Amino acid sequence: MSHYPHLLAPLDLGFTTLKNRVLMGSMHTGLEETGDWNRVAEFYATRARGGVALMVTGGMAPNPEGGFLPGAAGLYTDTDIANHRIVTDRVHDAGGKIAMQILHAGRYAYGPKCVAPSAIKSPISPFPPQELGEDGIEKQINDIVTAATRARAAGYDGVEVMGSEGYFINQFLVTHTNKRTDRWGGSYENRMRLPVEIMRRVRAAVGADFIVIYRLSMIDLIPNGSTWEEVVQLAKAMEAAGASILNTGIGWHEARIPTIATSVPRRAFAWVTRKLMGEVSIPIITSNRINTPDVAEQVLAEGCADMVSMARPFLADPDFVAKAAAGKSAEIAPCIACNQACLDHTFSGKLSSCLVNPRACHETELRVAPATTRKTIAVIGAGPAGLSAALTAAERGHDVTLFDKSDRIGGQLNLAKQVPGKEEFWGLVDYYDTMVAKTGITLALGKVATPDDLAGFDEIIIATGVLPRDPGIPGQDGPNVVSYIDVLRGDVQVGEKVAIIGAGGIGFDVAEFLVTEHSPTDHLPDWLQEWGVGDPADVRGGLRTEGPQPDAPVRQVTLLQRKAEKLGKRLGKTTGWIHRAGLQMKNVQMIGGVNYDRIDAQGLHVSHGADRSDPKVIAADTIVLCAGQLPERSLADQLIAAGRTVHIIGGADVAAELDAKRAIDQGTRLAAAL
Ligand code: NAP
Ligand code: SF4
Repeated sequence: MSHYPHLLAPLDLGFTTLKNRVLMGSMHTGLEETGDWNRVAEFYATRARGGVALMVTGGMAPNPEGGFLPGAAGLYTDTDIANHRIVTDRVHDAGGKIAMQILHAGRYAYGPKCVAPSAIKSPISPFPPQELGEDGIEKQINDIVTAATRARAAGYDGVEVMGSEGYFINQFLVTHTNKRTDRWGGSYENRMRLPVEIMRRVRAAVGADFIVIYRLSMIDLIPNGSTWEEVVQLAKAMEAAGASILNTGIGWHEARIPTIATSVPRRAFAWVTRKLMGEVSIPIITSNRINTPDVAEQVLAEGCADMVSMARPFLADPDFVAKAAAGKSAEIAPCIACNQACLDHTFSGKLSSCLVNPRACHETELRVAPATTRKTIAVIGAGPAGLSAALTAAERGHDVTLFDKSDRIGGQLNLAKQVPGKEEFWGLVDYYDTMVAKTGITLALGKVATPDDLAGFDEIIIATGVLPRDPGIPGQDGPNVVSYIDVLRGDVQVGEKVAIIGAGGIGFDVAEFLVTEHSPTDHLPDWLQEWGVGDPADVRGGLRTEGPQPDAPVRQVTLLQRKAEKLGKRLGKTTGWIHRAGLQMKNVQMIGGVNYDRIDAQGLHVSHGADRSDPKVIAADTIVLCAGQLPERSLADQLIAAGRTVHIIGGADVAAELDAKRAIDQGTRLAAAL
C-alpha cells in the first residue's frame, strides 16, 4: 500500500479525472516572455512526466492593461494560440493536464494604463490606477472571458481565474480598494458582482467539460479585508456560477506578513482552507509552504482540503510525485522556500530557476547526459558547490571522490540550518546525504586533502569555500571578539549585549540567532502571534487588532555596517523586508555609515565620516565579526604551483556575496560539461 493514500488518490471531476491530488500552482517564471515556446513546453512536459495531476501556468494577462509586468505574456491573438498549443500538446503527450491562469493585475499592473475599481494607488506600485467606468468593467470581463475561450482553443484542460493575492478581482471585493457607490461597490453583493459575473460568463463560454478553478483569497492579511462570512458567501456564489474547483489564496502582495518565505512554518495556512471544507460541494485546494509528500499527505488526511497546491517544490524537483509514489521521498530535492532563484529573479526581471535545481527553466539548455568517457574526479569541499558538482558528475557516470576536512557534508549549510527561520536547511543537507549515498560517491571526510592525495585523478574540482575576512580593527584579538562561525556552531558564550560587525546575509542571520530563544517557525501558534495573524472569522482579513506580538528578544543586539545605506538593502528582493521587520520587532538597533575605530573591554568604538566625527561606544559584552568572506584557495594555489590543472568553483572562486545559489549553479554546470 502506498505511503500516501490520500495524496495519490484520483479526483473525479465528473467530466474528467485528475490522477492524484497534486496541483502544480501557478508560477511566473518568465519563460513565456523569452518567446521560446519549445523551452516553455519542455518546462511543463518535464513536470507532467514527473506525475503531477494538474499544472497551472504562470498568470496570463487577458489584456495589456491587466499585465502584471511590462510585456507580460498573454493570449491576445491567434499566433498566441498557436504558441500555447505547442505547450499543451507536449504536456498531453507526456500524460499531463494543464490549465492556464488568467491574471488581471488591476492596480498591481506595472504600467501607467493600469485600472482598478477605485483610483487608489497600491503601496507596491508607482502607478496610480484609473477608476473604471461601467463600460470599462464590461470590457475587462469580456477580455477575461475571451482569454478563457482562447485557452480552450489552445488545448488547455482548464483555466484558473486569479481572484486572490490583491489582484484586480480581489480589489473589487474589499472596501480597502473599492470605494464605488454604483452596482459594483458598497454592499458585499455588489462588491462580489465582478467575480460572479466573470465566473458565470466564463462557464457559459467554455462549456461544461472544461476545468475552471477560482483562486479565492481566504485570508487577505490587509486592513479592511474580507470577513470569513464574506469568504464563505463568495465560495458558494462561485460554485453556483460554475467553478469546478476552489483554490486557496493567502494574503495580498502588499500585506506586511510573510506568507511563503522559509521562516513561515510549513502548512501555515492549511487551517484557513479547512474552515471552508463542507461549505461547498466542489473540491477545495489548499496552498502555501507545503513542500514534502508527508506534509501534503497529512494536510489531506486531516481533512484540510481535497487537493494540495505546490508550486516552488516543482522547480526544485519536477519528479516530486513520481518519487513519492515510488517510495523515494528522501530523494526529492527539497524546496527550501528561499525565493532566491525564483521570485527574486521574477521581481528583478530575470528568468526564474531554482537554488537547489539549476536545471529548472533551463531544461533545454543545461543537460546532464551520461559521460562519454568515465573519469576519476576529486572534489575538495562538500559545501553546496562541491556537493552539486560531485552529484552531477556521479549522475553522469564518473567515479567521484568527495573530500572535506569536516566529518560531515554540507559546509556552510550546516551553519545556515542553525538560524531560526532557516530550518529548511536541515532537509537540504539530509537530501544531499541521501543522494551521496545513492550515487556511490566515495567520501573522504575528516580529511584535509593534500596534493599527494590528488595525484591520480583525471579532474580536480576545488570547492574549498571561504575564510572569514579579517576586518583589521584594533582590539579585535580581544577575548570579547568572536567570529560568526563560533557563534552559529555554539562554540562560544555570547553576552547579553552584542555588537555585530557587518550586516550582510550572515550579519542578519547571526542577529536573528542571538535575539531568538525558540524559533516560531517550529510552532505555528507562536508564529501567528508574532506576526499578528488571527482567524478571519474573528477579525477582518485575519489581522489581529493588537498587531504583531513577538517574544521579547533574549539579547540586546546592535547591527552595524560601514555603508551609509539602509541595512539589509542588498538582501533578497522578496525576503529582505521580512528579515528587517523581524529584527525590528526584536528591537535590534541598526546603524550604518560607521567607522570601526577600536574594540576594548567597554565595547565597540565607532565614529562617522572621513573626519571621524560623532565618536561613541556601542556597549557590548560580545562583538561578532560578520565582515564578509575571502576565497580559501590554499590547496588550489599549491596544485597550480605544482603544474596541475584545477577547476575552482563556489566561494573558493568568488567569495564576494557568495550564496548557495551561485555555488550550486556553478558546480552543476561544471560537472555537466566534464
Ligand atoms: P556580505 O553579504 O558580503 O556582507 C559582508 C558584510 O561585511 C557587509 O555588511 C559589509 O558591509 C561588511 N564588510 C565588508 N568588508 C568589511 C571590512 N573590511 N570591515 C568591516 N566590515 C566589512 O557577506 P556575508 O554576510 O558574509 O554573506 C555572504 C553571503 O552568504 C551572502 O550573499 C548571503 O546571501 C549568504 N548567506 C550565507 C549564510 C550562511 O550561513 N552561510 C547565511 C546568510 C546568507 P560594509 O562594507 O558596509 O561594512
Ligand atoms: Fe524553492 Fe528556493 Fe528553489 Fe525557489 S529557489 S523553488 S524557493 S528552493
